[in-house]
Amino acid sequence: MGILEVKGVNKNFGGLKALQDVNLSVQEGTVHAIIGPNGAGKSTLLNVLVGKLRPDTGSVMFDGKSVLGRKPHEINQMGISRVFQTPEIFTDLSVLENVLIPCFARRDGAFRMHAFESVAHEGTINEEAEQILADVNMADKRNLHAGSLSRGDKRRLEMAMCLVQQPKLLLLDEPTAGMARADTNNTIDLLKEIKETRPITMAIIEHDMHVVFSLAERITVLAQGTPLVEDTPENIKGHPKVREAYLGE
Ligand code: ADP
Ligand code: MG
Repeated sequence: MGILEVKGVNKNFGGLKALQDVNLSVQEGTVHAIIGPNGAGKSTLLNVLVGKLRPDTGSVMFDGKSVLGRKPHEINQMGISRVFQTPEIFTDLSVLENVLIPCFARRDGAFRMHAFESVAHEGTINEEAEQILADVNMADKRNLHAGSLSRGDKRRLEMAMCLVQQPKLLLLDEPTAGMARADTNNTIDLLKEIKETRPITMAIIEHDMHVVFSLAERITVLAQGTPLVEDTPENIKGHPKVREAYLGE
């Protein structure tokens, strides 16, 4: 049993079969990449996992519980966090304030920043936020306006906002999209570090094969809404069907 078990999931948009009989098993503690050409259904699958879309049929189990029918924030509280394709941060707040928001949300189960129980409680939360910023190498930027950060740092901040929720499963939708090579490599290093320092599972959608092969332990190839093959990176690299469907050979 994987920490995430997707079975027989179908999702149609009108007459379009965006997902067709999708089965996916993500093992706890691994980095699992989902690749596939544009329109393969990757984002649709991710939206099903986080509760933004409800599949027509099938089941999605996380940590032994069904996520179907739950609201996105409920799924988030079950331990699934998502890093968006474009960073979703509060540009008018400082870096530290951005990290504090999900801290309070996790602690209180809702956005209730006004409801501090005690100064001590607040103190612990501040420590956690500072620690996460140190982990993603942004401690020195804690007082900067989030809006003034570079693209790479915005991504890093969003990662911190996810990690502070202590997710069991981190979903990454093209985490290096639009990044220059240096920022991409920094992100790879950051994700490796995150993986090594905490008990976390990652499912990553990514176009950049350099990123996929640097991080993934398992790879699922989606094509036209259906998993074509799932295997180790070594086997995926040489798979003729993958070369044909995905690399266009
Ligand atoms: P990917 O992320 O792999 O590029 P998507 O999951 O975004 O693919 O899309 C899969 C297919 O579903 C595409 O043909 C896309 O046009 C279609 N699609 C995605 N979302 C919607 C929607 N909300 N309404 C209608 N069609 C959609
Ligand atoms: Mg997509």
